[in-house]
Amino acid sequence: MSIQLVLHVAVPSPLHRTFDYLPPPHSDPQHLVPGLRVRVPFGRARTVGVVVECAVPSRVAHARLRPVLEILDQEPLFDGPLMALLLWAADYYHHPPGEVFAAALPAALRRGQAARQSGLRRWHLTTEGLAIDPRRLPRAPRQAQLLEHLAGYPDGISDHELAALEGDWRGALRTLATRGWVAAQEMAPSAAQPDTSAPGTGDCAPPALGEAQRAAVDGIRAALGAFQGFLLDGVTGSGKTEVYLRVIDGVLKAGRQALVLVPEIGLTPQLVSRFQRRFPVPVAVLHSGLSDSERLSAWLMARSGAAPVVIGTRSAVFVPLHAPGIVIVDEEHDPSLKQQEGFRYHSRDLAVLRAQRHRIPVVLGSATPSLESLHNARQGRYQHLVLPERAGNAVHPQAVILDLRRRPMEEGLSEALLQGIGQHLEAGGQALLFLNRRGYSPTLLCHECGWVAGCARCDARLTLHLGQPRLRCHQCGAERPVDRQCPDCGGVDLRPLGQGTERVEQVLLRHFPGVAIARIDRDSTRRKGTLESLLAQARSGHSRILIGTQMLAKGHHLPDVTLVAVLDADQGLYGTDFRASERMAQLIVQVAGRAGRAEKPGQVLVQTHHPDHPLLIALLQEGYASFAGRALEERHAAGLPPYTHMVLVRAEAPTAQAPLAFLEDARAEAERSGAGATRLLGPVAAPMERRAGRYRAQLLLQAEQRGPLQRLLRVWVPALETLKSGRRVRWSVDVDPVDTL
Ligand code: ADP
Ligand code: ZN
Ligand code: ZN
Repeated sequence: MSIQLVLHVAVPSPLHRTFDYLPPPHSDPQHLVPGLRVRVPFGRARTVGVVVECAVPSRVAHARLRPVLEILDQEPLFDGPLMALLLWAADYYHHPPGEVFAAALPAALRRGQAARQSGLRRWHLTTEGLAIDPRRLPRAPRQAQLLEHLAGYPDGISDHELAALEGDWRGALRTLATRGWVAAQEMAPSAAQPDTSAPGTGDCAPPALGEAQRAAVDGIRAALGAFQGFLLDGVTGSGKTEVYLRVIDGVLKAGRQALVLVPEIGLTPQLVSRFQRRFPVPVAVLHSGLSDSERLSAWLMARSGAAPVVIGTRSAVFVPLHAPGIVIVDEEHDPSLKQQEGFRYHSRDLAVLRAQRHRIPVVLGSATPSLESLHNARQGRYQHLVLPERAGNAVHPQAVILDLRRRPMEEGLSEALLQGIGQHLEAGGQALLFLNRRGYSPTLLCHECGWVAGCARCDARLTLHLGQPRLRCHQCGAERPVDRQCPDCGGVDLRPLGQGTERVEQVLLRHFPGVAIARIDRDSTRRKGTLESLLAQARSGHSRILIGTQMLAKGHHLPDVTLVAVLDADQGLYGTDFRASERMAQLIVQVAGRAGRAEKPGQVLVQTHHPDHPLLIALLQEGYASFAGRALEERHAAGLPPYTHMVLVRAEAPTAQAPLAFLEDARAEAERSGAGATRLLGPVAAPMERRAGRYRAQLLLQAEQRGPLQRLLRVWVPALETLKSGRRVRWSVDVDPVDTL
């Protein structure tokens, strides 16, 4: 009897395994290799999967095997190292392999579309368009700008190039097209690659490197061609990006590609244009705001090598590269690099593993490295490169603690702070105020009876928002009109308690009449383009005071800010999650980094009710490195990551009892499997037990070594799938969780 040889295919499904299929009839076995997409029957439907293994003995009875319907690719989409990484990730994060591959593919390829660029459009001015004077469109500045831009490209520009320009041009383009001033011409795909008309000109002269920058660049360049991890630890403005650019320059000259990963919020048009200005090559940009065809196009340019530089957010860590040369993770501490739902992977951690498999260096850069990465550097796993000074002539801001205890306050602002703002405004500077809480006030309280407006579906208070006055839940998004009367006692003395950005804005308007204030938070920037225009007003000097949430803390270059104030440092000191203080320290340092970026010296004021808190003192008086040292000691003493490893199992259901019951069973199952060196903590209700009408509970697994933890998960997760109590809850496994809420 001959053994039937089959293919293992990763098919999107919640099941933690691949599926067996017969090769398609009349197919040449030579053409079947891992990394190809195939269309397969699945249940009663058809779906697209990725071949993981070929010519392997079947795991199921012959009669039940079905053949592949169609092979969708000529060549594998993923090379060996990337295939290995994806399979490793499915195993390590205990996530179904089909869903892991789906996460790695652009939507168009997931649907089975061909992996080539469909005819590429190029947009150009029509004869009518050429005759239009852009100055005739004063009320449509976008259209005018686009007309002017297109006038510089007689051959037209592609959708891809358009997407890479600063701002969103799709609307303006559509309007110009309907007016008949702009038209698209389809190009054969071959003519569109390589994309030589990209705006890169390579004309901006790089600055001479400082000593520490030079050492960092030399160190990384010397490692090209082999695996080595680097932690590039440099204060904001110390020239980390300049180091990346120099290193990438060397990578490109060697004919290889650079993959740059950034948190969503760090992927600003300024960053992209900085890369484009430096390198006269196409830069592929991958982020969540792209249309399916834009994403496919950027993905294909990365894979073919047509784009030597690839910049993207989280999931770009899975983008195939023709000739990988280096991986860079900027703002490596940023929690948004971790995917928080579905396939819960950490993009930074996978970047390191990917570099290892390709045998290329990886650079993790940050002004405030994660404690994990600092620990790895201390252990000698990464080379620690420090840029202690700001580049050019910029000077470090000094930080001053404002002790709030027993001081008079005006809506969250101390007198000392108000005075400070006044002085800086008088001296011609700008002030930036950081408060990580949007809305008017986080609480609406009845002064008669103590009732507090709460969300009907969450264990959370409703935030009062002005503008169009509403009460909103920041957990589930629910909202309703503001109560005029207390529903409990009928009292009418309802008072907003505490401050959000809207309230601070109002105080400032009262206090500094006539001074232009820009509030930057998720509410004020909801409409597309508003963030850019608020930042432009800030940079032009029009806005003198900026008040914002963490949106304002990152990356934006605001050269005239001379005063930075942290309104509430205490938010992070006593948070529920063990990483709360690390987060707060990172935010404080990032936001302080906005001050004095140019030649103007900056000042940083930090308001707190805990001026003696040792972590806060270490941070503000000695700097982030000292803070991190102490925080690491605390983690060590408490047996927390990075000294131990965690896995969090979350469960939720419409009743409070079901998640706990499931997790109790799960715990018992783990004990039966022999948890050994793994500690089981819980189950307990989540810190916010009810959210969006569902009750949540969690079970924490903790171990000194990853090995035993992974061995347990390997038998335990499949067992969880068979638990009866699991059918009544939604549950998930989070390996190396970044928050435990
Ligand atoms: P980071 O990424 O660490 O915040 P950047 O690379 O953005 O730092 O540098 C901050 C500013 O200093 C930028 O305007 C950059 O052009 C400039 N810069 C960087 N390196 C140098 C240098 N060696 N000499 C002068 N200016 C520099
Ligand atoms: Zn009341
Ligand atoms: Zn809610």
